[in-house]
Amino acid sequence: MDKAKDMHEIDIEMVEMTLDVVKYAINRITNTNPELGKPKKEEELRELVGETITGTGIGGEKAFAMFKEVFVKATVPIDHPRHLAFVPAAPTRAAIMFDLVTSASSIHGAYWMEGAGGIFCENEAMKWLVSLTGMPAPAFGVFTSGGTAANLSAMVAAREKWRRHPQNQNKKGLMVTSIGAHSSIKAMAKVIDVDVLLIETEDAISGDSLSQKISGLSAQERARVFAVVATGGTTNAGIIDDLDGIATVCEKEQLWFHVDAAYGGGALAAPSVRSLFKGIERADSVTIDPHKWLFSPYDCGAVIYKNPEEAKEAHAQEGSYLEIFKDEGAHGFNPSDYQIQLTRRLRGLPLWFSLATHGTEKYAWAVEQGISLANAAGRFISEHPLLELVRPPSLSCVLFRRVGWSADAYRNWTYDNHNAGFALVTPTKWKTSEGYETVARFCFINPDTTHKDITDILKSME
Ligand SMILES: *Cc1c(COP(=O)(O)O)cnc(C)c1O
Repeated sequence: MDKAKDMHEIDIEMVEMTLDVVKYAINRITNTNPELGKPKKEEELRELVGETITGTGIGGEKAFAMFKEVFVKATVPIDHPRHLAFVPAAPTRAAIMFDLVTSASSIHGAYWMEGAGGIFCENEAMKWLVSLTGMPAPAFGVFTSGGTAANLSAMVAAREKWRRHPQNQNKKGLMVTSIGAHSSIKAMAKVIDVDVLLIETEDAISGDSLSQKISGLSAQERARVFAVVATGGTTNAGIIDDLDGIATVCEKEQLWFHVDAAYGGGALAAPSVRSLFKGIERADSVTIDPHKWLFSPYDCGAVIYKNPEEAKEAHAQEGSYLEIFKDEGAHGFNPSDYQIQLTRRLRGLPLWFSLATHGTEKYAWAVEQGISLANAAGRFISEHPLLELVRPPSLSCVLFRRVGWSADAYRNWTYDNHNAGFALVTPTKWKTSEGYETVARFCFINPDTTHKDITDILKSME
């Protein structure tokens, strides 16, 4: 038997399997109330399914049945309307559907030579993202696997630019950010081996607090500072730093100004809060995760550069077998030149299709829903005798406390709701002058979440 042929052959069984899979996908795409699954121990899963990878294969039918009956039930659907933990997601049906098409189309997304049509579509969506930031031409960006990869790509571009000065060639870089910044900033600083200087506040950093931090440095330390990372919507609390004030300091001090708006970036589309982001248009680079608040399926992040040529100098890969991509005949925009990844899927394509389908106004509406759900939750909490807001809702995040609860009580509440298949809502910590306090947190993304969902969850704390 010709094994290679066999594996790619289309026979009646493969066609039936394809129909089954598509039917399942359609059911899932149209199901607005999916089961809230929960994790099982690895041993439990093993016991339920046995060996799945064998020399001769267990067959697609069996593997798919396992997926439907066992594996998917051990996962939490990120778009469940009562999934309000971490940063949930709510990809549009159009975007999910087109994710299937993107896979089926087998397009290489690194180089224009192979991916032109698809990259064109991605760039249409990117143009809209750039327009949301207000960054002037030639600002442009690329889609990445997420906010972490986008932040890393921006930090590499910033560090490379700084390193090009002969006096910086042997120095270890130093970045300034705040403790409200996302964990990926510190993690990626390790990857590029630079130090991080933290401004000790979870609240918004102002231009003044940044100036103070910088002027407190020794001359030696000051000479190592190459970038400032501000946050456009902290992941924990939705707080937006004073971007305009920080931009002014960065210009004066000649520092790269990165805005991490991985979570909050979607809110640039929301007229009610857009003014809070004033100054983002002055950034050298911006991270936005469409897979968070712009309703794309995983994974889809984006990094935008004020001057894409600077990113290209840092990221374009050289290789004899890659040279043809840079040839005039293959000319065009090569996404691999602007971020850390070479081979890439066209992960911006689902966003493009959804934007093309619905129009940008629907996006503005859907983001506003998250904000108004947060405000409604804020009202319900204020009116509740056992609950208190820790701070006013910001963007779509709400931090609140249950009077009298210990950290254990919050944890048990999380597990009880999850085990009951009712909701996934998790505690977080909030830093005060007395240290860290455990509190409850909502993050709203899904416009299908209802007021009743919120009040039912609050009731579970009584
Ligand atoms: C989620 C988040 C990230 C990380 O993004 P991933 O897509 O999970 O890699 C970075 N920064 C902020 C502010 C975030 O909210």
